[in-house]
Amino acid sequence: MSQPVDDKCVRCGACLSVCPVYKAELKERFSPRGKNYLLKKSRIDKKNPLFVETIKACLQCGACTAVCSSGADVRSLIRDERKRHGFFRILPKPVYSLLARRNVASFLLKAAANLPAASGYDLEGRRAEGSILKNLLHSGKSLKPVARSFLSSPESFILRFADLVEPSARRKDIPRTALFAGCVQDLLFPEIPGKMAALAGNSVIVPESQACCGLPAFSAGADHYARKTILRNLDAFKGRDFEILLTGCASCASMIRKWPTLFQEGSDHWHKAVYLSERVMEFSSFALKFLHPLNCITEGRTAFQMPCHQRFDLGRAADPVSLLERNLGDGFLHIDIGCCGQGGIFGFSRPDISGLILDDVLSLLGHDISCLATTCSGCLLRLKTGLSAANGIGRQVRVCHLVDTMIPDVQD
Ligand code: SF4
Ligand code: SF4
Repeated sequence: MSQPVDDKCVRCGACLSVCPVYKAELKERFSPRGKNYLLKKSRIDKKNPLFVETIKACLQCGACTAVCSSGADVRSLIRDERKRHGFFRILPKPVYSLLARRNVASFLLKAAANLPAASGYDLEGRRAEGSILKNLLHSGKSLKPVARSFLSSPESFILRFADLVEPSARRKDIPRTALFAGCVQDLLFPEIPGKMAALAGNSVIVPESQACCGLPAFSAGADHYARKTILRNLDAFKGRDFEILLTGCASCASMIRKWPTLFQEGSDHWHKAVYLSERVMEFSSFALKFLHPLNCITEGRTAFQMPCHQRFDLGRAADPVSLLERNLGDGFLHIDIGCCGQGGIFGFSRPDISGLILDDVLSLLGHDISCLATTCSGCLLRLKTGLSAANGIGRQVRVCHLVDTMIPDVQD
């Protein structure tokens, strides 16, 4: 049977310098050009372990597709190949199903946050090697249950920060807003949606039954599982009337934009997905449009790590930078810090390559940076765990979400 052929690649090599995996490994088969070549070959054994390893080694960041002037969409070709294999063994199959269930997801996420594989380093700060299971067994670290969740008691989190927001901070015309918390922020960093909701005003709609955006399953080509979790969200927001769906995660926002593509055009599910995808707004775009400039006080200087989904999928790379310039003035240091190596689930499945990619971020941090802000939950998790395990400057840098530069933390 013939294989799908993408004949747009002219092998110019422009994608090599932007692919984080190729830059870490420096092997042609790991480059977008090399992967494109392998996918074009009709006689290759798709069960060959080297082929499987190569197709797994992709963050789905989109840098190659964005830079290619010939129109080759290598990222989609790789996802299509994963799709043909159902879920492509990136994570165990049941994990995708469990992500749609918040209680189970809470345990999984806390486990991931505690695993050395999530940071690319073991608990002593040495680079993690091998599988997530091997790292878990090696560490012998017990997994703590989750005690906190924004969605379980949003009012308490919003109230905690509401007094810190001057009414004059908001423009009067903030339309009716709903909040999509995203599973990582809900369970691991619940203050972030709490602060965003406090800034947006106390009439924010927060449906408790919302679930994961579906990106982990979608990236693995497991569309069936992505649809399952999206359906839970369509149900959670059903019948709610709002103009903005606010999220603090650029990756969730980019996935919500894709929701309609997973349903038959014109179907009831498709219409509901379109309703949400047309309203989704990542926090920095929201703050630029609906909040007045805030005089934020910071110690030292803050830099920004640009999540791949913010840069390549949302096409809103300028928004967080403009917001930080507006709020921090000279306290913002403009340096180009890109991929952190997390890539949704990539950091868990290939901590070795992910660790090398994170090293690139660490090499850009100078003594004058005291804070590194980001707008993606996966990046936040990766940077927090990776930098705290690093030696030298990385360990001194506080990692935070963009909203944390606008509202300080409050003790319970
Ligand atoms: S995928 Fe595009 S950028 Fe990469 S080598 Fe082929 S033509 Fe060049
Ligand atoms: S999507 Fe990103 S990681 Fe994957 S091949 Fe393209 S540039 Fe490399």
